[in-house]
Amino acid sequence: MQSATRRVVIVGGGTAGWITAGLLAAQHRGPGSRELDIVLVESPDIPTIGVGEGTWPSMRMTLQKIGIHEADLVRECDASFKQGTEFIGWSESGDEHRYYHPFSFPAEYSSLKLANYWLDQSDKVSFADFVTPQAPVIAAGLAPKQLTTPEYAFNVNYGYHFDAGKFAKLLHEHSVKTLGVNYISANVGSIESRENGDISAVILTSGEKIEGDLFVDCTGQRSLLIGQHFGIDVASMKEFLFNDAAIAVQVPYAKPGDPIASVTRATAVESGWIWDIGLQSRRGIGHVYSTAHSDETHAMACISDYVKRTAPGVRIDDLTFRSIPFEPGYRQQFWVKNCVAVGLSGGFIEPLEASALALIEQAASIISEQFPANREIMSVVAKRFNDRMLYHWQRVIEFLKLHYVLSRRTDSAYWRDCRDLATCPDELRDKLTLWQQQPPWHDDAPRVDELFPSASYQYVLYGMGFRPRYPYVHGAEENKEKTRVDRLLHTNNDKARQMLSLLPTNRELVEAMTTLRGVA
Ligand SMILES: Cc1cc2nc3c(=O)[nH]c(=O)nc-3n(C[C@H](O)[C@H](O)[C@H](O)COP(=O)(O)OP(=O)(O)OC[C@H]3O[C@@H](n4cnc5c(N)ncnc54)[C@H](O)[C@@H]3O)c2cc1C
Repeated sequence: MQSATRRVVIVGGGTAGWITAGLLAAQHRGPGSRELDIVLVESPDIPTIGVGEGTWPSMRMTLQKIGIHEADLVRECDASFKQGTEFIGWSESGDEHRYYHPFSFPAEYSSLKLANYWLDQSDKVSFADFVTPQAPVIAAGLAPKQLTTPEYAFNVNYGYHFDAGKFAKLLHEHSVKTLGVNYISANVGSIESRENGDISAVILTSGEKIEGDLFVDCTGQRSLLIGQHFGIDVASMKEFLFNDAAIAVQVPYAKPGDPIASVTRATAVESGWIWDIGLQSRRGIGHVYSTAHSDETHAMACISDYVKRTAPGVRIDDLTFRSIPFEPGYRQQFWVKNCVAVGLSGGFIEPLEASALALIEQAASIISEQFPANREIMSVVAKRFNDRMLYHWQRVIEFLKLHYVLSRRTDSAYWRDCRDLATCPDELRDKLTLWQQQPPWHDDAPRVDELFPSASYQYVLYGMGFRPRYPYVHGAEENKEKTRVDRLLHTNNDKARQMLSLLPTNRELVEAMTTLRGVA
């Protein structure tokens, strides 16, 4: 008889730990469920990474599943609405070279290749402006919805920007008070194993033993269980993506009512790039760079220069800058025996498309939805989990590399190295060859759980200025569709006009949602 999985022990109380705890508890505790016992142990001495402020639309579903109201997120986490990313200075150096990767798909994307029609007028209108009304909404700094729109519903697709520390706190309180997760504030000092190599318990530095059937390693870059205990190494991805350090800083708005950008801004600089995320009370800014091409002094000068340029009046000396080194890569296995890694303990790659939290949501959802009833089933779930996460990581590497390899920048050794096709994963190189005659399409991202749909490849490809060497062929079917395309473009324009007149600004919406608390 196989032993049942009754108790899950999660080590680590960052975003990874609490998302995993929340999703598991929402699905496996409460009436009609198996009443899983969930324990989360968090060190009182080791702080969470404290960054990770940009999310994807998938976060809406995650919050819904966990049972958190959107208004609570906005009020408690300094949150704002994010509709995608604006890339500045990537194709060529200079602020005038910019494009959007919005969250909404091109219109009627399941069956219509609008890219084929856009190419004929690509010198007049940007790809994003041609295919979705979201681009003008973003440009105007508007929210993705109105105050009266039901929670999590939208006019244009969105995720959030939020304060990572406050987000972990909100999840913590909800998971403990509402979902019945047991919380222990203590340091895990050692690990005890069974004869078959499974973990039987984590031992706290107080000597107390926390036993479990499944252990989730959410200990961040320390990777206490998967890395240190099981000895699973990180497969380095530095040969493809060179960035391995960041400097992060929180910057106040010049004045309280300043606009909140509807996108993350990612500005390419000499040896990396700078993220700029607008929350309600401040901006989160960070410089990601390659230590092989720059050093901390140079990187500090670069981020200080950006802050001075974009936040005139803010005194650099008043700000606290934090250096965060990282090893770009992922663990060679994510689930070993009865232990699974979620979050930074499983790997990390630069946050260019904010994929880390999305990967955490994916991992935690798989664990929850395929929760193994016993040890025999766990071996199968573990094997599948490893295959799926490896697939996701490989796609993330490929998609991020696309942003670099298409650049035409030659102003530094960094950009010349980034553009070198020899540093491109083989599969991406093949796709780039194929896209010389056809746009990225569903075949390029065929799975239902794909992190980046082919539409994302289109936005980046054409935003970066890629134009096919061989004109895309309009087949007989597509010629017939010309009327459909004209009608669609007309509808897109109408929708954009309507939304520009109806939608509040990003700041107006979050302030209205925050003020409602006073009314309630
Ligand atoms: C520079 C940078 C920018 C980023 N930007 C983004 C972004 O925009 N979007 C995005 O999606 N992601 C981003 N990320 C990634 C994101 O921050 C993380 O994926 C996310 O915060 C999850 O972290 P974590 O919970 O795995 O680890 P952590 O937050 O580091 O938490 C680790 C936890 O483990 C506990 N712990 C460690 N050792 C022990 C022990 N011995 N005993 C008990 N507890 C222990 C700690 O106390 C802590 O609670 C970014 C990351 C970096 C480095």
